[in-house]
Amino acid sequence: MGAFITSLGLMVVAFAAMEPLTAATHRWVMHGVGERVHRSHHRVRHGRWEANDAYPVMFAAVVCVGLWVGFNQPGWAGLVPVGVGVTLYGLAYALVHDVYIHGRVGVFGGHRVAHLDRLAAAHRVHHLYNGAPYGMLLPIVPAELRERARRTDRDPLEGASPGRRGERVAAVPRT
Ligand SMILES: [Zn+2]
Ligand SMILES: [Zn+2]
Repeated sequence: MGAFITSLGLMVVAFAAMEPLTAATHRWVMHGVGERVHRSHHRVRHGRWEANDAYPVMFAAVVCVGLWVGFNQPGWAGLVPVGVGVTLYGLAYALVHDVYIHGRVGVFGGHRVAHLDRLAAAHRVHHLYNGAPYGMLLPIVPAELRERARRTDRDPLEGASPGRRGERVAAVPRT
């Protein structure tokens, strides 16, 4: 039972730590040294994939190595619950960012979820100005940018999700 609680704790901590870690990676790697690849995500996508999709593949590869070590190397078993927490975060990120906000799979159709629309409104600010917020599940939007975004009808998320045109502008709350 003690080992289970420890594993559960590691998993939760890993999940929570991923938000600031992801925001920092987005800020200093994807909008830093690795900007060339991430740029594709800030342009209108033609076709199903974008160069930026290489990022989640690379992150998943790192998690796979971590899980392999956790399963196979004595003394490193803690990496397994950490890997599970990181994977769950990645799953949540993909569902919120790629499936819901950018409408890449089309499963949501016109169905709106109020809380996810708030996250979409925050992410719209990132796409409008290529700056903050860099986080996804707990985005920190500077008040000045939030205000600036409120005054513009330009919606960079719309072009990125064909099939949801029209409804997007009305659906994203300007708060
Ligand atoms: Zn995006
Ligand atoms: Zn970005």
